[in-house]
Amino acid sequence: MAPSKVSSAAQLKDAYKRVTETIAETAERSGRRADSALMVAVTKTASPDQIRQLVEMGHRDLGESRVQQLTQRVAALDEFMNRRRTMAGAATRTSHSDDQLPDAVRWHMIGTLQRNKVKQVVPIVQLIHGIDSLRLAEELHNYGAQKDVTIDVLIQVNASGEITKHGVASPAVIHLAEQIDSMIHLRLRGLMTMAPLDDDPEQARPVFARTAELFNDIRDAGIGEGHVTVLSMGMTNDYQVAIEEGANLVRIGRALFGEDEQG
Ligand SMILES: *Cc1c(COP(=O)(O)O)cnc(C)c1O
Repeated sequence: MAPSKVSSAAQLKDAYKRVTETIAETAERSGRRADSALMVAVTKTASPDQIRQLVEMGHRDLGESRVQQLTQRVAALDEFMNRRRTMAGAATRTSHSDDQLPDAVRWHMIGTLQRNKVKQVVPIVQLIHGIDSLRLAEELHNYGAQKDVTIDVLIQVNASGEITKHGVASPAVIHLAEQIDSMIHLRLRGLMTMAPLDDDPEQARPVFARTAELFNDIRDAGIGEGHVTVLSMGMTNDYQVAIEEGANLVRIGRALFGEDEQG
């Protein structure tokens, strides 16, 4: 469960340790390697200080769901990283070690991407998790063609059938995967899903199991030339169940940063 508030650096460190250990234990318990599930830290409720602290602990993968917050946070963190690198370069013998600071962080766009925001988002992220329509895929592909880049994407699956949820209905996923596979400026990397929020994480299990099945179907069909390796599912409430059902990327916000919206 998420702590209601994570205010000090020590609390963040504890929360980070707890979550990463739980992820590793759950993967092992499911018969997989302890390091087989990547954690994306979702910074929606994090303060700028907390984001810097997490990166200083050596964490590399960060996620945002809204474009405006994403662009602001990427810019702020870039500035911090550059400053740290300059400082590290200026001093040949630094008294405090910079060993933990990664060379670069990887941002993940985990929310719904509007087509008119493609050009803002693509240059600053590593992976786009929420492809939910052919039109969005086409828009991304056009942008990739213009810039001569290949964009890594996940299809978002609406495996629960809830009409309020974004994502592609299960029966249409394979077809969209094939269409994306034919677009040379997109690289299909896998699937993403969100389970309905419920106090009981077991409620999420069928949704994750169904998405994992689709993921395996895509791989078995040979779609994506071996690039389809990412199964992004599980959040604070349900990431253990998600890993048990095969997730190899979990997106964790509140368990790290607490419940409070801090902008
Ligand atoms: C906010 C969000 C998360 C993180 O949710 P928590 O419950 O805070 O862990 C994960 N994925 C998506 C798509 C989100 O919007």
